[in-house]
Amino acid sequence: MTPPKIQMVDVKSQYLKIKEEVDQGIQEVIDSCAFINGPSVKSFKASLEKYLDVKHVIPCANGTDALQIALMALDLNPGDKVMVPAFTYVATAEVIALLGLTPVMVDVCPDTFNLTKKIVENNLTPDIKVVVPVHLYGQCSEMEGIMSLSQEHGFYVIEDNAQAIGSDFSFQNRRTQKSGTIGHIGCTSFYPSKNLGAYGDGGAICTNNEELGQKIHMIANHGQKKKYVHDIIGCNSRLDSIQAAILEVKLKHLDAYANARNLVAKTYDEAFKNIEGLEIPFRASFSNHVFHQYTLKVKGKSRDELKKHLSDNGIPSMIYYPIPLYNQLAFKKYVPDNFNLTTTEQLCNEVISLPIHTEMTSDQQEYIIKKTQEYFQ
Ligand SMILES: *Cc1c(COP(=O)(O)O)cnc(C)c1O
Repeated sequence: MTPPKIQMVDVKSQYLKIKEEVDQGIQEVIDSCAFINGPSVKSFKASLEKYLDVKHVIPCANGTDALQIALMALDLNPGDKVMVPAFTYVATAEVIALLGLTPVMVDVCPDTFNLTKKIVENNLTPDIKVVVPVHLYGQCSEMEGIMSLSQEHGFYVIEDNAQAIGSDFSFQNRRTQKSGTIGHIGCTSFYPSKNLGAYGDGGAICTNNEELGQKIHMIANHGQKKKYVHDIIGCNSRLDSIQAAILEVKLKHLDAYANARNLVAKTYDEAFKNIEGLEIPFRASFSNHVFHQYTLKVKGKSRDELKKHLSDNGIPSMIYYPIPLYNQLAFKKYVPDNFNLTTTEQLCNEVISLPIHTEMTSDQQEYIIKKTQEYFQ
């Protein structure tokens, strides 16, 4: 038997299922030549506002810009501190440093891989003006607790929702709210492999705050409210019309895509839950999971050898993330010598993400499961 061809993400097969609608959307933009801020951008903005049930969505060029613009909107002073998890993609902390602010890296919860109320509370100092919870792999951070701390202490909360768009956070009173709409500002990415992926770069910022919404809109557009009148320093960050047309089509499928990912995750869970040395993803009671990544922890056996074993059998896997942010040379000046965080260190050595996407066939998944089990026999 030749093993099935397996990719981390299968954007091509997904495209073929929606090809007609996507192609038509792209063609309409080309026919109209409204390449910048065309009707498709306005329409997608409105559709995403409705889907997320949020007052303002401001589309922008990518997820990193979204985070940068969110910070620019908060009137911070040079050197102000911003709390971020040390176990995240570089973009979360990079924009803080880029704006002359100071990233404060903290540890994450070993179960959810995210910030918790307790972690934020234990690391809080009066000069921390913003906290950036990252909803890693597709599951929300403990937003209710973090928001109550924010009210008590007066810091802002920017959600890095690049990996969790579409997930629901459940409050204790059972009310639910979409991830990215709970903090003062939420940021997301439409990078092609993300759950709502464009066919190029894209991102968005959202907020329920009227004043912040206006300001973010201005910042993303050269600080102007009126053409050629610039009240504040901004930047140029736009979602292009072709990407907006594609995203409009894909947004309609986002919930079905999350369901497909959950089915794959459930099958993996069943296959791996009784393997000694393997820990399946934890499901938080306060959030559903949209499984941007399916990430296992390898305990007591070599994670890197498992990765090699899979690779030798034609199965890709990824390590998100192999190096704690505080060990990256770029952030050297922000961390004391020999700084290290227990859980972050452990996760960088133990996590492995398996292929998960909306088009996974049972043949492919059975093969991945078989080869993974083989390593532990
Ligand atoms: C993808 C990602 C980003 C950045 O998004 P881009 O669109 O690639 O700029 C930021 N934060 C996290 C957690 C991400 O996964």
